[in-house]
Amino acid sequence: MRLPVLVALTLLLAGNAPAQADDAILREATQQLQALIRINTTNPPGNELAAARFIDSLFKADGIESQVFESAPGRGAVVARIRGRTGTTAKSPIILMGHMDVVGVQRDQWTVDPFAAIITDGVLTGRGAIDDKGMLIANLQAMKALQRRVRAGTTLSRDVIFVANADEEAGGDFGMGWLLKNHPDAIRAEYALNEGGRTRIMSNGKKYVALQMAEKVSHVVTVTANGPDGHASIPLDGNAIARLGRALAAIGAHREPTVLTPVTTRFFASLAGIWPDAAQARAMSDVASGDAARVTRGAEVLRAIPTLDAVLRTGISPTIIEGGIRSNVIPRDAKATLNIRTLPGQSIDSTVARLQRAVNDPRVTFTISSRGTDSPAMSAENEFFAAVERAAKRVEPSIVVVPYLSTGATDSADLRRAGIKAYGLLPFPLEMPDEERMHGNDERLPLSAFGFGIRFVTGIAEQLALP
Ligand SMILES: [Zn+2]
Repeated sequence: MRLPVLVALTLLLAGNAPAQADDAILREATQQLQALIRINTTNPPGNELAAARFIDSLFKADGIESQVFESAPGRGAVVARIRGRTGTTAKSPIILMGHMDVVGVQRDQWTVDPFAAIITDGVLTGRGAIDDKGMLIANLQAMKALQRRVRAGTTLSRDVIFVANADEEAGGDFGMGWLLKNHPDAIRAEYALNEGGRTRIMSNGKKYVALQMAEKVSHVVTVTANGPDGHASIPLDGNAIARLGRALAAIGAHREPTVLTPVTTRFFASLAGIWPDAAQARAMSDVASGDAARVTRGAEVLRAIPTLDAVLRTGISPTIIEGGIRSNVIPRDAKATLNIRTLPGQSIDSTVARLQRAVNDPRVTFTISSRGTDSPAMSAENEFFAAVERAAKRVEPSIVVVPYLSTGATDSADLRRAGIKAYGLLPFPLEMPDEERMHGNDERLPLSAFGFGIRFVTGIAEQLALP
């Protein structure tokens, strides 16, 4: 289509102005992210209070209401709030949240100082860049964008709450768990946007957003094999270590049944339409079809992709093995630890019963040493999911949003049990190798992806809070 020169020029200028604003925002956000990464919040011990005070000072500088809560010495949270409409037409608040603590580093495996937040060739490298300090700053910038609207005279349709919490990487007792227990009023909301999803760049360069709406539940099961003890010079039938070895071989060969949930059915149906590999895309359609024979066929093909296989069934990973005291003594027992992740709605007791049958040895016993708690799955049929879709397409029209069941656990489970509809996102488009650096070495965030994420999260907040 051809446009008259004046119209074309006007469009060009209108298109340019936000781009320049975006550049300034990205520059400011990058400096904030560097400063936040330089505050070492490795958990344990955490020391998130320094990070909390830093974030609090950024809000206060902008005239945004903000408060630091101390959950324990050196630990804490920041809760900031932009107030919206009051009265009967006001909608319930939304939360933009993230965690300030990071996991430890294997210093010798990094090519740069993990806490220096060095930028080379447009890529910021540092612990926490993608988990979860990048998202905290993207959320903070979304708050600032809303505050600019408020200053220009807009009244938001609801309160928007920012939460940066502590201790996510170690279970949340001094973070979200503490806030929910001690300050539930500060975070009372209808929806929460948290970490836990993905924005993935596929091998063909196309992107999709996996919005986390449910998560697997983590349990710890101890397997104990018993046998006769004695001197190693007399070999004994039923040696506990050999018995445990046979049991673990049976556990390793066991596969839990394929189970589709509403979230995974929609996940595979949506992904089938955009997946670059034709055979795998067909397998995804098969899995989503609901037809038993096709589901089995599709699941067999997807077995080749561990991340996808893990959302189709309860997963069992042996992680620790213990037994024996010295080289010439046959021990009475030997133990193995299994980390079992059940699909939502599936019972750990049923899995253990199936394992017992697979092992088929009365001298091998199973104990559930730590039992996880299930949380409800979120719906794709509400204003939140629609807002994420619209915001994603505003940043990149071809992007597809798919519902996602995460194999990892997040603070969202606590929120969902408390009645807050929590959704998980990682708003930064990453290729698989960069995504896999989360909790790994040389964790990094391309600044172009950071800019994308800031626009994406800001868009979500605007979709939900602008009148
Ligand atoms: Zn995280």
